[in-house]
Order: sequence, then C-alpha cells, then structure tokens
Amino acid sequence: MTRTLAAAAAEAASCTKCRLAEGRTQVVFGVGNPDAELMFIGEAPGFNEDKQGEPFVGAAGQLLTRMLGEIGLTRADVYIANVLMCRPPGNRDPLPDEIESCTPWLVEKISLIQPALVVTLGNFATKFVLNTQTGITRLRGQTFPWHGRTVIPTFHPAAILHGGGEGSRQFEQLREDFAAIKRTLEELRNPPEATVRPADPPPTTDEEQLELF
Ligand code: URA
Repeated sequence: MTRTLAAAAAEAASCTKCRLAEGRTQVVFGVGNPDAELMFIGEAPGFNEDKQGEPFVGAAGQLLTRMLGEIGLTRADVYIANVLMCRPPGNRDPLPDEIESCTPWLVEKISLIQPALVVTLGNFATKFVLNTQTGITRLRGQTFPWHGRTVIPTFHPAAILHGGGEGSRQFEQLREDFAAIKRTLEELRNPPEATVRPADPPPTTDEEQLELF
C-alpha cells in the first residue's frame, strides 16, 4: 500500500533514525510538485534550510531558483530534496550511517514522485546517486540512464558562489547544464522517433533499496 508524499512528510517530521535529530531545528523533507518530471537532489540542509524547513532557500537556493527561471521553470514546477533531511552540525559532511538512515526516505520520495529526470547538485549527491567515486567536474555535461530515469549531474550552486561566481567558466558550465536539462525534458516529452534508448546498466548498489526506484 503506497501513501502520499504528504503522509510520508508527516511521518518524517518526527524521524529519530540518526543523531542529526538531536541538533536540528526541523526536518527538511523536500518541496515542490509531487508529480514533478524534474527532481533536484542536493546534499543536506544548511543553516537557513534548517530554520525555514525548506531545501535550498539560502544564497545557493537563490541561484538555483534563478537558473530554473532561465529555463522557464519555477520551484513549484519541480521537486527539490537532499540526500539528508537534517542539518549536519556546522555543515560538516554527512556520515555513512546518517546517509544509510536517510536513504529510505529519499527512495520513497523518488518512487512516489516518479521523476523522469533527476539532477544531482554537486559532488556529494552525484557520487551517492550514481554510486561512483568520479568527481562532478568529470561527470557534468553528460546524461546517465538510471533505473528507467535520466540523471544529469551539475555543480552545486554553492560551489559556483564560493568559486568564480558570475563570470567564471564554472558558471558558464552550470548554464550549459541547465540548457541540457531543458533539452532533455523536451526530449523525454517528445522522444525523437528513430532514437532507441539504451538499456539501463544493472544495479550496482544495494539491490533491494534501489529496486524501489
Ligand atoms: N545545500 C544543499 O545541498 N542543500 C540545501 O538544501 C541547501 C544547501
């Protein structure tokens, strides 16, 4: 029996599966269209997200919102979530047992939303979703088949802000990646007739978990 995203969010609000429950202000479940074709996955809530209960609301989030606008989308059109739903203290990297505790929530979100296209934001989310050690600089600019969906990895907006900013090569590449997101969404809606989609590679991580995607 499947439940709604809202029901899952209500249960997640009191999650105590890992130590991050102790320091958080609130669980940051995710935000946006529960039937979105396009889902973004970041790393974990930061200071502002923990306070407001919504992912990507700080400076990095403003850049994400702006990039969405550049391809004709609003935050309400897409779904935005993170690998972790609770803020790690001092924004430290997520620990393996925290990731393990939070993964079933992310799996449930993906299986309820059924996005055709998943965009991973930054190194952490990209390595986690694609189950790879390869870094974002090498993976961006490509599309990957993934459990019947498509994944496009791109830079984390915070990396752009802390790096070269507006005039940088990275910012240009972020723009290129958003143009690819737009193109891919159009192609997924109207597949070119002669194109045969390659089969997905076999799952390489926890089979049971990933079956749910
Ligand atoms: N960085 C992330 O990865 N996620 C957020 O929600 C905010 C900043």
